[in-house]
Amino acid sequence: MSVNYAAGLSPYANKGVCGLPEVFDSPEEVRAKVETLAQLIKESQYMVVHSGAGISTSVGIPDFRGPKGVWTLEEKGELPHFDTTFEDARPSLTHMALLGLQRAGYVKYLISQNVDGLHVRSGFPRDILSELHGNMFVEQCEKCGRQYVREKVIGVMGLKPTGRYCDVVRSRGLRACRGKLISTILDWEDSLPVRDLNKADEASRRADLALTLGTSLQIKPSGDLPLLTKRNGGKVVIVNLQPTKHDKHAHICIHSYVDEVMKQLMELLGLDIPKWEGPTVCESSTPTSEHSNDVKPGHDDAAKKKVKKDIIKEERKREAALFTQEEGVKEEPVSVKRERADSSVGINENK
Ligand SMILES: [Zn+2]
Repeated sequence: MSVNYAAGLSPYANKGVCGLPEVFDSPEEVRAKVETLAQLIKESQYMVVHSGAGISTSVGIPDFRGPKGVWTLEEKGELPHFDTTFEDARPSLTHMALLGLQRAGYVKYLISQNVDGLHVRSGFPRDILSELHGNMFVEQCEKCGRQYVREKVIGVMGLKPTGRYCDVVRSRGLRACRGKLISTILDWEDSLPVRDLNKADEASRRADLALTLGTSLQIKPSGDLPLLTKRNGGKVVIVNLQPTKHDKHAHICIHSYVDEVMKQLMELLGLDIPKWEGPTVCESSTPTSEHSNDVKPGHDDAAKKKVKKDIIKEERKREAALFTQEEGVKEEPVSVKRERADSSVGINENK
């Protein structure tokens, strides 16, 4: 399957500002800014990272609004260029550095707008990752919410049925769930996944440092989440080549390639960048003693199924509570609709 995810989306007129010229800081400026960032990270108690398409361009997957981005070219009537397929794409230096930062205890939560699945395939723990726009490799049971990470792309988008069925067997029961599996990829008008969005919102409010990597921060509500961190007294650091929608809110804006910034950052923090040894799915950031959490995509075992089921149960309870409590509804932070930058729907400015 081609990596042309964009071609599978419905037509949508308002795609935000595309094709802004890129800005490059001098090597000295980059160095000084990364030193400041390293210091902020050392002082931070709870850092949340927000990633966008810019962290996957170095592995051959085009972004959307960069000079050669999918929407930028679409405006000119041109087609984007893909150097890889989703299955063949390897995580970038940035993906692996984020895994290193997580293992070292610096990254507490990761929020991604990317659908390429590279965070999951790099082995980043899924329980501290929100994929707000879906994942090309993940399908989900309509009935019980169970997610399946596959080795191949699902091939269907817009939350549509994939033609497969859920095989979770309920406790004591002999019959499998048999719920319809659907794609997790959002089309323009689809609502964001409630569970992922709630967790992202919670982490953003709790964070004292928001680091955004390779995103123009134009898509709502994802792009506005770092502002929740700032509003609660935290700092925002933006790494992007083009200007972003929220540069004015940032403590520092680093205009350089994300891979270069992350390479320097890891050196300054004295951390190794983990090597990638093929697609690996890690479900939990807290390893159990009996079972390794790392599994090849598509594989599973009884213990993990049980854990996952419990997590889903717990999350469903929380979701239900959110929608039934009046306070929960008020607290419902952001529109769950994906909207372009200047839409009137968005984060409540009074929060
Ligand atoms: Zn199911």
